[in-house]
Formats: sequence, structure tokens, C-alpha cells
Amino acid sequence: MPTRFVDVLAPVALDRTYSYRVPDGLDLKAGDIVSVPLGARTITGVVWADNASPEPRLHNRLKDVSEKLDLPPLQAELRGFVDWVADYTLSSRGMVLRMTLRMGEELGPERVRLGVRLVGPAPQRLTPARRRLIALLSDGFLRAKSEAASEAGVSTSVIDGLVDEGTLEVMPLPKPPPEPAPDPEFAVPEFSPTQQGPAEAMRTFAAREGFGVALLDGVTGSGKTEVYFEAVAEVLRKGKQALLLMPEIALTGQFLDRFAARFGVRPHEWHSELTPRRRARTWAAVASGEAHVVVGARSALFLPYADLGLIVVDEEHDQAYKQDEGTHYHARDMAVVRGHIAKIPVVLSSATPSVETEVNARKGRYQRIALPSRFGGQHMPHIAPIDLRSEAPPRGRFISPALAGAVRDAIERREQALLFLNRRGYAPLTLCRACGHRFACNICDAWLVDHRFRQRLVCHHCGFSMPRPHVCPQCQAEESLAAIGPGVERLQEEVAALFPEARTMVLSSDLITSIETMRAELNEIAEGRVDIIIGTQLVAKGHHFPRLNLVGVVDADLGLGNGDPRAAERTFQLLNQVIGRAGREAGQGVGYLQTHQPQHPVMRALVTCDREAFYASEIEARERTGYPPFGRLASLVVSAGERAMAEGFARQLAACAPLDDAVKVLGPAEAPLAVVRGRYRYRLLVKSQRGYDLSGYLRDWLAAAPKPKGTLKLEVDVDPQSFL
Ligand SMILES: [Zn+2]
Ligand SMILES: [Zn+2]
Ligand SMILES: [Zn+2]
Repeated sequence: MPTRFVDVLAPVALDRTYSYRVPDGLDLKAGDIVSVPLGARTITGVVWADNASPEPRLHNRLKDVSEKLDLPPLQAELRGFVDWVADYTLSSRGMVLRMTLRMGEELGPERVRLGVRLVGPAPQRLTPARRRLIALLSDGFLRAKSEAASEAGVSTSVIDGLVDEGTLEVMPLPKPPPEPAPDPEFAVPEFSPTQQGPAEAMRTFAAREGFGVALLDGVTGSGKTEVYFEAVAEVLRKGKQALLLMPEIALTGQFLDRFAARFGVRPHEWHSELTPRRRARTWAAVASGEAHVVVGARSALFLPYADLGLIVVDEEHDQAYKQDEGTHYHARDMAVVRGHIAKIPVVLSSATPSVETEVNARKGRYQRIALPSRFGGQHMPHIAPIDLRSEAPPRGRFISPALAGAVRDAIERREQALLFLNRRGYAPLTLCRACGHRFACNICDAWLVDHRFRQRLVCHHCGFSMPRPHVCPQCQAEESLAAIGPGVERLQEEVAALFPEARTMVLSSDLITSIETMRAELNEIAEGRVDIIIGTQLVAKGHHFPRLNLVGVVDADLGLGNGDPRAAERTFQLLNQVIGRAGREAGQGVGYLQTHQPQHPVMRALVTCDREAFYASEIEARERTGYPPFGRLASLVVSAGERAMAEGFARQLAACAPLDDAVKVLGPAEAPLAVVRGRYRYRLLVKSQRGYDLSGYLRDWLAAAPKPKGTLKLEVDVDPQSFL
């Protein structure tokens, strides 16, 4: 028999595969997960392709595949997806593969659990502990060893003693029965007359064979989740798996309960806080097909589903879907790509779709399934602007008298109020009143943020922190420091002064210690044990507070005018989402926008509830300027420990950009965030026409360009979301 060779892709920062010899008696096919020697190590890789005739000169130097692992093979669909993502993002294929092989080291057979039961007579010497244990086990049932010990209130050594005496016997516990599968008929909801059409459209869409994208479009509280659950039910009936992507997995506690109410069991979760053992088991359950539905953060998109039948991207406009380190990818866009390769339907759900998705729906590339109004006849919140130019808060305060009055009324009605400010910490800037010194990070181009809970000044870019000093380091003045501007912690101070009786809670990502505590705090609010919630964008997402009827946006202008081409879109989406938290269950919700620019198109669209006007003006502006989706963008960020080195390399890069009429290379310019962690940053922005192969252009360019050496680093971001 001729010797067989295979090409194996390893989950390391390499784009190429390596050829290995297949030992006699080993049957390998593409997708199989194998152990192979690589350099001095043995690593887990994936057979990417057969290779009938590797380079003849290498024949005798090729090593053997060590072992085929007892794991389901990666499907052709997933291998194609890995290749595609690597190609598009200019990442190495090995690094993309690494995102799919996240099973860790805890795979392998289930741990055998031991049980104990009574088999012989009681021994001569009986302590009270032994007596309790024997009494417990006198029914003859087999109990887990640890349970028997804790129920009888004894240590396991008491059990071991009685085993030695022949009174008890230890034996393996039978395996727990497999988890029940989600049942599509468990609790089919009664849809309202306005929901019936969309629910039916969703079932038909999910029942199709092949690729397609639907935009599920409906305001907060219109019942989007129940409607896309119909798509999940449809693929479960086909015996396939469904993936539900969520922007913020810590906020999905209520979602898991809603899922269980509809399907009888909770879905599998996938996120960064899983224990290694849970992670390994979930990975294996996904690969074997035992996990029917996975709810996960963006990384769940790269899991090795045995038979994926549907992807739902909830809150598809959310920025959290963009990964900005390692492989730069947008999980919503890549979900559409995986759906295309796997030939399955993809549902994008949002109350405020991204402009890209909205344009695709308007052009008919995506099917729009629209939910007209709120479920149960609730009205959308009434939104009113508070013009800070004429209704300013008192000096050094941030809540205007009008907003304070509305909060007071809400509390008196025993309802909840939410004050929204998308800024963590106490104050974004600290300065010395005596000399004007401003506290900045030593290694970033950023002010230090005052965090009073932690008693420190913190850099939000690198994490550097220092105690808040009592003496100005520049002029030695004592107690001269002033906090400038508000963060949520400062807002809480103001709320405590205004409403001393009210129970308040601050929700901010830097105050979360774990997903579990976060879920507990959200439950406290939902149960009505908090009067005033003060929160950052964390509160905008996903959670349902039945007694919340008032949302006050403390600084509606905060996200506007920072040079980001998506600033208007993001502000519109965020404020819409946060105000949509109000009035979902009881009565009419009200939203207040404190703003200096009530005439801004974003504020006008929010106040008049005119979503169409907002999209029309935003789409027109993008078309005029050639910004996505009417043109394409990529950013190249060069960074180095010295400014001259970063700038010099960026200029070298720019000089060798291939000439092409369809492409414009802008820069290099100092990045808006010019220094991060002591590294100087220069940015090139590459603009092209729509439909142009920008990744191909970049690949040709970088292949011919000098390579970054030493401390120089080049980061490529195709379709960037951040312009810092
Ligand atoms: Zn912070
Ligand atoms: Zn000073
Ligand atoms: Zn810093």
C-alpha cells in the first residue's frame, strides 16, 4: 500500500498547513482531530486535506501523525468558514482555527461518581456519627458518597470507616440520564393578532432549505424573542441545532428562563466565564449534537456544531459583536457568512438595525419581518427633550430641575426610575484648582478617571491606577483637586442628596465581579427592591424591569461629535434602546433627554419617534460620503515604543501601497488615541468602492511591504467599527 499523507492545520499563529505521514492502520479523513508533533511539542490539530504527493524531497523527513483523537470531525462547512474568515480578516488560519478548538484540557471520559449503601450489620463500636449515617442508609438506597455524608452530618472518613468494617459498600453510581432536549411543542405561545403574521413568516423562513437572511424588526417589547423562538422551534423539529448570539451574556439570566418556559429546558451557555470542565463538556455536546441550542457570546460562532440549522443574532446592531483584538471580526457579519457556507437561515433581530442591515433589507437582499407594536397594547414611551441651555441644573450638578421633578413623581407613584449616563467612575477628569494640573495616564494619551468606590484614579485604556492624592504633584497645593464632569458614581451622590429616602443601585461594567452577582443584582431590580437605577450602557441591553416607567438620559450628547462616522447611528440606537426599557408592563413610559442640541437629527428623530427620518438622513449621508455600506473601509494601525519608529514605518507602508483607481489610502496620521500603554500609534485608513475585494488588495500590499520588526506592530482591521 502506498504511504498516505495529510495536511494538518495547527491552532497556532501560522497560515500554512504541515504535511504528515499517516501510519499504517490509521484511517484519517479531512476534519479529523489529531495529535501531531510540531517542533519539540505535540499539539492538537485538524486534518485539513489529503495530500497525495507532498514535496518528494520531504518524504523521508515527514513525521507521523501521533494519534487520531476520539472526537467528532470538524464539518466541511466549518473548515470552509475558518478559511474564509482568515482570508477576509487577513488573520492566520491557525489563529481562526484556535477559536474553534476551545475545548481545553478537560475532555475525556466522565468522572465516575461513587455511591454508598448499607450491606452488612452495624459494627460493635457505634459513635453518634456512625449511628446517624446508618440510620440514613437503613432504607437500603444507594446515595452519592458526598450527599450521604452531608445529609447525615458526618465527614467522609466516617463512611470509609464503616466500609472497612463491612457495614457499607461503595459502588459506582449509575450515569445520570441524558439531559432532556428542548421541546418545540412544550409551550407554544398564543400570539396576538399583530404577532401572528410575523410568527408565521418566521416559521416559514426557518423551515426553508438553504441560505437566507431575515431582519426581525420590532420595537423593544414587541415580542421579538417569542417570534424568533418560532424559528428555533422549527429547526428543532428538523432535528438540527440552533445558535443564539447575544451581545452581553451576563444579561441573559431572564432570557434563559424565558427559553425554559417556551421549550421546557434551559439552553447550553457559551461564554468566557465557564469553568474549564463545563467548557469542555459544552464543547463536546455541541460537537456531538447533544447540545440542541447554544446561547453564547460572539465566540460561540466558531464552535464545531454537528448539524447547525439556524443562527439568530439578537440586537444585531450592538458593538459588542466586534472583536478588536487578535482576529478582528464582526460576529454579525461572520454569522451571515457561516450561514451562507452552511446553507442555513440567519435571523438578525433589532429594534434599531445597523445602517448596513437596514440597507440590505431596503434593497431586498434580506427579508424584513416587522413587528408593528408593543405586545399587550403597550405604547412606546413618550420622549421629551430637556434643553440644557435654558433648563440647566444648578452649578456642579447634572440633574436638571425638570428631570428631578419627574423622578420624584415616579418614586411617589412607587415606580422605578432609571438615570442613564454612559460613563463609568466618578468623574472623567481631575484637575488642580491652584495650578490647573490635569491628571493624565503616564503611558496613554488619556485623562485618569476618578473612581471613588475604589478610591483611585484609573486609566480606562491600560488599567493603570493610582490612589487619589491629597497634594497636587505639580504645585504641592493641598486639597486643591476638583472633579470635572460626571460619571455614574458622582450621579449617585447627587441622587442620594436629592432623594435621601430612595434605594439606589449603580450598574456599571467595572463594578461587576461576576456574571452570577450581576444576574442577582438585576433580579433585585426586577423584583422592585430598588427605586432609582443609575447605569451605563449595560442597562440598555436586554433586561426587563416591570416597574420601570421613567428613563432620564443625563447627557444625550455624550456620544456625538467625536469624529466617529457612526456616532449618530450609535447614539440613536443606544438612546432608543435605553428609553425602550420604560413602560414595558405598566402604563405609559416616559423618556427625558437632557441635551444641548435639541435640534440635532438624532434628538429630533427620538422625540418625534420618526425612525424613518433618521435612517433616510443617515443613509443619504453615507451614500454621499462613500462610507459603509456604500463603500468599504479598512484600517491599519502601526504602533511602536517610539514615536519616530511608528511614524516612519507607517510612511514606508503608505509609500508602497499599490495604485488602484478604486482605492484611496488616507494617512498615515496620528491615531485619535495617539498613545496607548506607552505605544505610539499611527493609522492608515483605506477606502474603496463597494463590492471591491479590499482584503485581496491589502494582502498584495502587505506581501510586498516591509515586515514589522522588533517592537513594531501592525494591526489590520477590515470593516473597522472603532476609529480610535
Ligand atoms: Zn473605570
Ligand atoms: Zn496644582
Ligand atoms: Zn493608560
